[in-house]
Amino acid sequence: MAPKLAAGNWKMNGTKAALAELDTIAAGIGADGAPEVAICPPFTLVAAAAERAKGGLKVGGQDCHAEAKGAHTGDVSAPMLKDAGAAFVILGHSERRQDHGETDAVVAAKTRAAWDAGLRVILCCGETLEEREAERTLDVVGGQLADSIPDGADAGSLVVAYEPIWAIGTGKVAEPPQIAEVHDAIRSALCERFGDDIGTAIPLLYGGSVKAANAAEIFATSNVDGALVGGASLQADDFLPIVEALG
Ligand code: PGA
Repeated sequence: MAPKLAAGNWKMNGTKAALAELDTIAAGIGADGAPEVAICPPFTLVAAAAERAKGGLKVGGQDCHAEAKGAHTGDVSAPMLKDAGAAFVILGHSERRQDHGETDAVVAAKTRAAWDAGLRVILCCGETLEEREAERTLDVVGGQLADSIPDGADAGSLVVAYEPIWAIGTGKVAEPPQIAEVHDAIRSALCERFGDDIGTAIPLLYGGSVKAANAAEIFATSNVDGALVGGASLQADDFLPIVEALG
């Protein structure tokens, strides 16, 4: 069984004032780390968030460069994130793939760099509406995972987040049978590639318009071990009920 994880992706939201929400989230979760809870704020808040995170709360970044240091203006490396106190990094989010042209090969190189720095990777995959309507969902997601996850994954270093692009920030949530079909396929692919012991222990998160009202139904779905939450992770009042539903 994979451990449960609720991760918040703050995207490009939050200034220092938002750290108060983080304090409330930290105070509202259990200290035993079950389920695990992480918040991934923008780079500017990672160090401050990690310093303030108490109890079971962990902090993550939303991207990293594939190299550890060098002439890459504006970029942040995996060792820098680790140094700032991050435990996780989200990689291959569809907004990075779309806005920054990140390919599977780029995501694989970043994943390798994150592992080398001792970060746990939340690796995102998901299809567009057009791909779903063309019944290409499983091919697209399977291809993304095959090409974005380097060899040598283990259960402690990898989390996979299935985020159908048409469900992100749209209020449209995938139906449980749609989620189950993809999560079951991801689980099978991971078991086939890394063996059953590792494949069954890698947490699989669903992401895309998760909120308190739909969380319990999503968490009851086959092979769903948690959620990657965007909009509903910005306020403790919205996020804590999701954590509670994960139990
Ligand atoms: P959303 O975003 O919860 O706002 O739909 C999820 C994500 O992109 O990680």
